[in-house]
Amino acid sequence: MNIADNLNQLRSSVPAHVTLVAVSKTKPQEDLLEAYAAGQRVFGENKIQEMTAKYEALPKDIAWHMIGHVQSNKVKYMAPYVSLIHGVDREKLLKEINKQASKHERVIDCLLQIHIAKEETKFGLSEEELFGILQSDVSTTYPNVRVVGLMGMATFTDNKAQIKAEFETLKSLYEKAKEHITTFHTLSMGMSGDYSLAIEAGSTMIRVGSKIFGARNY
Ligand SMILES: *Cc1c(COP(=O)(O)O)cnc(C)c1O
Repeated sequence: MNIADNLNQLRSSVPAHVTLVAVSKTKPQEDLLEAYAAGQRVFGENKIQEMTAKYEALPKDIAWHMIGHVQSNKVKYMAPYVSLIHGVDREKLLKEINKQASKHERVIDCLLQIHIAKEETKFGLSEEELFGILQSDVSTTYPNVRVVGLMGMATFTDNKAQIKAEFETLKSLYEKAKEHITTFHTLSMGMSGDYSLAIEAGSTMIRVGSKIFGARNY
């Protein structure tokens, strides 16, 4: 199977309202170009240097999504071009994104990352922290940031019932938050191993890497 076949097979199983982010971290530019030739325009990366190098080398109609944990001091490198930042897990980061976005006269779309997994190592806000941020009227405080939804990662487990329950928790938080925030339209959940469960639970954006590009060698 090549990348184009993998992509086409994936697309045929994903409903039209679900955006596919091709997670290309660690993969060489040729692989991204193969996906590009097959029509893919949205790519996800988790390291800023790697994403910027690919952004500079590859076609300019690609939308670059930062899907990894973001350090505040790295925001300035993505601010000129990033299309969506998935992993905003603290208000301090919104503040920094706002500052860097304003330097480029941009409004940067962001997702708030919610901690839904059992593992302590996964980043994210609690429900309480989420509503704390939303209640502070982010669009007025941070005019160069647009909070467009939520992102989450399920526990890495074979237990489908658990994964499903975690996605359903995130979906209900999303619906609740949507009542407060009119700019919400994206719920980013689901990866190679669990995207079907995520879509069943209401995902509107899936982040799929190995199922398109093959296993990663670190
Ligand atoms: C690597 C990564 C993915 C893609 O993982 P696959 O299992 O290869 O599909 C999705 N989301 C995040 C946040 C990632 O870091």
